[in-house]
Amino acid sequence: MINVLFAASDEAWQEYHDVLEKAFAAQNLNVHLSQQHAADQVDYIVYAPSSRLQDFTPYTKCKAVLSLWAGVEKIVVNETLTQPLCRMVDPGLTQSMVEWVSGHVLRYHLGIDENLAHQDGTWRPSIPPLAKDRHVTVLGLGALGAACASMLAQIGFQVSGWSRNPKNIPDIDCFNGKDGLDAALKTAEILVLLLPDTPGTTNTLNAETLAKLPRGARVLNPGRGPLIEDEALLAALDSGHIAHATLDVFRTEPLTKGHAYWRHPNVTVTPHIAAATRAETAANVIVDNIHRCENGQPLRHLVNRNTGY
Ligand code: NAP
Repeated sequence: MINVLFAASDEAWQEYHDVLEKAFAAQNLNVHLSQQHAADQVDYIVYAPSSRLQDFTPYTKCKAVLSLWAGVEKIVVNETLTQPLCRMVDPGLTQSMVEWVSGHVLRYHLGIDENLAHQDGTWRPSIPPLAKDRHVTVLGLGALGAACASMLAQIGFQVSGWSRNPKNIPDIDCFNGKDGLDAALKTAEILVLLLPDTPGTTNTLNAETLAKLPRGARVLNPGRGPLIEDEALLAALDSGHIAHATLDVFRTEPLTKGHAYWRHPNVTVTPHIAAATRAETAANVIVDNIHRCENGQPLRHLVNRNTGY
């Protein structure tokens, strides 16, 4: 019998219980899934940082902690967590991010906001260029960034991407490392941030890097709030250097009522809805990883504690 502890909110338990049980059965895994197990009997922990479980020390037999969330910045800082940690790479979540990013890139590309704002009886033909004449840059070419970049390239955009390590992705101009950032920014008419929140990515978009974007660039941030130095972005929006920003994630969530982003005419706030983990698909990812581990295969999506993602 494999003991799996579900350590997340009660709402998540309602959402995941049946689909996890079904996925365990489909893999012929004999699992006791519970919100309560004796700590020293637990083989795996399905985890979200909103859980009451904050001290991993008593889980001496635990072979892996499986995050329900793609972003693990709130988990990697827990020093009691010494067990292998896997982040969530969920096909449902990836599809959702691809849809959000493609939708907002197309919204900017086609000038949809301008049309919506001018329904006043005046005929103003303003023909957008074809996607092949529009440059989009995606910072972060991981599970989500690479999928979004590939979809944008498929639509026809000129796409550049940036990552820590060198990458080779069909139809994407790939840049990497500190030196590659300038080249990735300088052509970005639309910039998409899909980096994780780590000490190495804090304030990636600051006064200096914003100045490297072409005048009139648009910014999409479905990554994490700390990727942007907020004051610098607001100043760049005020000066017109950045034409518009659509922000899904913030340093403090929910974004406080009085925050300047809510009031700024050139900012769209979306309430961290770009991509949610989908229980139906995420359960298979969790169960597949447990199945692999039980069969002596390496765990997938392991978090590197040194880089923080
Ligand atoms: P991932 O697979 O870990 O990819 C991260 C990417 O960022 C990799 O390409 C990595 O480079 C790059 N990177 C990391 N540190 C870097 C640095 N210092 N300089 C340059 N590139 C760096 O992550 P993912 O699954 O794509 O997810 C990305 C983020 O999206 C998550 O961490 C989370 O914060 C966010 N997210 C948001 C939502 C939402 O609803 N808004 C939902 C899910 C996730 P290498 O490839 O070279 O390692």
